[in-house]
Amino acid sequence: MLTVDQAWEQICQTVTPREPQLRELPVAAGHVLAEDVVSAVDSPPFDKALMDGYAVRFADLADVPVDLRVVEEVTAGRTPQKPVGPGEATRIMTGAPLPDGADVVVRIEDTAFDDDSGQVTITVAPGESGANLARRGSAMRAGEPVLTAGRVLRAPEIGLLAELGQAQVPVRPCPEIAVLATGDELVPYSQDPGEGQIRNSNEPMLAVQIAQAGATARPLGIARDNRDDLLAAVRTGLESDILCLSGGVSAGKLDLVPSVLEEAGVREVFHKVAVKPGKPLWFGVLDAERTPDGRPRFIFGLPGNPVSSMVCFELFVRMAVRRLQGDPGTSPCSLPAAIVEPFQTRGDRRTFLPVRLSVTAGGLEAIPVPWQGSFDLRATVNADGLLDVPPGDQEFHIGDSVHVIPFGQRFG
Ligand code: AMP
Ligand code: MG
Repeated sequence: MLTVDQAWEQICQTVTPREPQLRELPVAAGHVLAEDVVSAVDSPPFDKALMDGYAVRFADLADVPVDLRVVEEVTAGRTPQKPVGPGEATRIMTGAPLPDGADVVVRIEDTAFDDDSGQVTITVAPGESGANLARRGSAMRAGEPVLTAGRVLRAPEIGLLAELGQAQVPVRPCPEIAVLATGDELVPYSQDPGEGQIRNSNEPMLAVQIAQAGATARPLGIARDNRDDLLAAVRTGLESDILCLSGGVSAGKLDLVPSVLEEAGVREVFHKVAVKPGKPLWFGVLDAERTPDGRPRFIFGLPGNPVSSMVCFELFVRMAVRRLQGDPGTSPCSLPAAIVEPFQTRGDRRTFLPVRLSVTAGGLEAIPVPWQGSFDLRATVNADGLLDVPPGDQEFHIGDSVHVIPFGQRFG
């Protein structure tokens, strides 16, 4: 059976980054930048006023109050026609280019204009030359690297790209992930279960995890535990970049997922990982030469128990999403935390336990959440992440340092 590290390695080897595509701003948001971006512009592109007021020579303000002759008025979007000489001032608005000669902007509140004389009295001088203005290129210079490949495009990145004039941007698009629940006992979560039945809680849960991972969910409902129904649904699911099945991967009589996937042409990469919860996890690939568009598909058979499904998504499916988007990371991001309650674990598998995180002055504290096992979804609502416990008998004491994989974190 593979160790968790070996499973990550297999996923990393199998899933390669998607080809970049050009996307328009702002719909590129949420996708991952495929190439480094170098600034094509100086920002600001010219020396500019940051306040409404008067552009003057700092040397003229040695002794305030002082009267200066107003030579011109410049609003944003206009170009100054006259330099500011000694004893002169230009009325200037926020965002307007600074006239030659001026090296400071005096706030309008610190001035008084006299209509009759055409002079402005400066009552308060700014503390230094360069006050209330921004020099060309002070935020960013042409030729300077500003964004690196692999970054998720959020509002600030989209704004910056717009400032650079990059109306289209190469991204690795968010993958689509089909979600297929399997099981004769399942009913849609909006319905009342009959005897022996349960609601399909995995589908909406996985859909949210998918969205949080920066991918698009395509829920396919419930496939029954028979070959024909499952095969038809799997074929639909294989249209998406990734297919996540839940249930049907253990050793039960009706655990048909591995054989049906094989029938659909999917190649098994691994089945079973030494992890708790999630041991029956199945991972495979539909190779590029078998798909109509020449792009491979990646298939995860998640164990049906809700916590197993959730944990396997966080640990393994997310990794595939990250790889498709060009992230070079080879394991989930974890945070160091200190244990606040003593506890013990036993068993031969690496275990991921639900924990609550608390931020303190001394750093993060991890509080184990009591849970009954991988069916106990209820316990996870009190958790913020998964405590990574090595295999073997383990004893934790108060203050011991541990690693926690926080829920729902996208890249790291
Ligand atoms: P399986 O992996 O199919 O053997 O299922 C393991 C356990 O998870 C069983 O108790 C199932 O009833 C339950 N289960 C399977 N699929 C779902 C689902 N979509 N939502 C909630 N529970 C499920
Ligand atoms: Mg089942």
